[in-house]
Amino acid sequence: MNQPQFQCNQRDQLLEQLDRQLLRSRGSGERVALLVFNLRGFREINMTCGHAAGDTVLRLVAERIRSALRPCDGLFHIGNDEFAVVLTTLKSPQVVSLAAQKILHSIDTDYELPAEVVAASAVAGGAVFPDHAGDRDGLLRSADTALHLAREQEQDFLIYDASLVSREQQLANLKRSLSKALDNNDLMLHYQPQIDLQRGQLSGCEALVRWNHAEQGWIRPDVFIPVAEKSELIDTLTYWSINVALREWLEFCVQCRDGAIAVNLSARLLQSTEIVDLVSRALNIWGADPGALILEVTESAMMSDPETALRVLTRLHEMGVTLSIDDFGTGYSSLAYLQKLPVSELKIDRSFVQHMADRPQDRKIVRSIIDLAHNLDMRVVAEGIEDQRSLDMLVSMGCDYGQGFYIARPMPAGQLSDWLHQAPWRKPAA
Ligand code: C2E
Ligand code: CA
Ligand code: CA
Repeated sequence: MNQPQFQCNQRDQLLEQLDRQLLRSRGSGERVALLVFNLRGFREINMTCGHAAGDTVLRLVAERIRSALRPCDGLFHIGNDEFAVVLTTLKSPQVVSLAAQKILHSIDTDYELPAEVVAASAVAGGAVFPDHAGDRDGLLRSADTALHLAREQEQDFLIYDASLVSREQQLANLKRSLSKALDNNDLMLHYQPQIDLQRGQLSGCEALVRWNHAEQGWIRPDVFIPVAEKSELIDTLTYWSINVALREWLEFCVQCRDGAIAVNLSARLLQSTEIVDLVSRALNIWGADPGALILEVTESAMMSDPETALRVLTRLHEMGVTLSIDDFGTGYSSLAYLQKLPVSELKIDRSFVQHMADRPQDRKIVRSIIDLAHNLDMRVVAEGIEDQRSLDMLVSMGCDYGQGFYIARPMPAGQLSDWLHQAPWRKPAA
């Protein structure tokens, strides 16, 4: 078995070993698997504990990997924080996943250094010869691709799969055309009216982004928002949607004092205070009262980095913007954390509202959220109202606001006036 040398790269030895094993495999028909491992957080260990400590961790990791291997398998240190393992005499490709999980499990532990204890873990990609590639270089490429995809998808291990690659390519294409669509102004907003349930009048609208792709037709926001969220595109998209929403809402509702426009804010934007400047700039450009803007954030968005989220939300609140928790009831925010947030609105997730007329359990949840919101001095919005019975129940439960297909589907700004003219709801006070 190979003894990792942390000063030198063992890539050449890996290539020789693969040449040897693939030749044997061509004769015997037995499979060969290549696994590539990337240590997580190794740069931080090097930076905070020094390079000597980093080398020690590499040596200890190599020992742990070796302890999980059979004598016939090979281990190679092929780069800074990268290891490769060659598994030979495999009867079926299924055992590769098990081997990878065993190795990952052995790496995932605390490492005792002279001065401190550090934790390390790894992410891995694997490919099998001849199932995923017909030669050595193809096998290396496939394992690297699997590692890249595992990292992208935040998984511990992925084995090469051609369909995963084509999905990844589709997403990359989608990202490119979304970027172009933003440049060319090909996106638009649709507006879903929100009703003050107790007063029977329009209280505002939620702005929902729409994309009519030249070749693929309408693409749902659930499909392209997650793509945008993986890059800085989401910043551009959010800045665009806040500006367009303010402009179109102010145009539609020239002197509405009570009305407000709600815009969705992605999780990623709560991880930096940059959004505060973006919002302030947009309010200035359109001369909008901060009270006319509601920003909707989901519970999960806040939980990934609660401290930064709290800082960002506090600054937006101080600016006078209303903050709303979207999809409430589907996340796991603790009531203690909720109480600390400068949030004035809860939006009950539509999964509880849609069928509440027929499901007593859903009704109980809706009633509890309404009471919780009011006890915390927050107002409450029900989304996903699809029938008159649910609407009536919400009114009698004291729910403040509502939106849903029964009231109106999201529509372009130009249709709002006609809709309001025909609908039984009054315009907000001027
Ligand atoms: P969301 O914020 O929960 O938005 C409400 C979704 O529920 C919208 O879907 C809306 O069309 C749909 N909806 C409204 N009433 C009903 C109803 O009565 N029944 C049913 N079944 N559905 C109803 P849409 O427009 O497809 O948006 C999906 C999600 O995409 C949104 O969920 C939001 O998370 C995200 N999204 C939309 N626009 C933006 C945006 O501009 N920025 C960001 N960051 N996210 C957005
Ligand atoms: Ca929303
Ligand atoms: Ca929602």
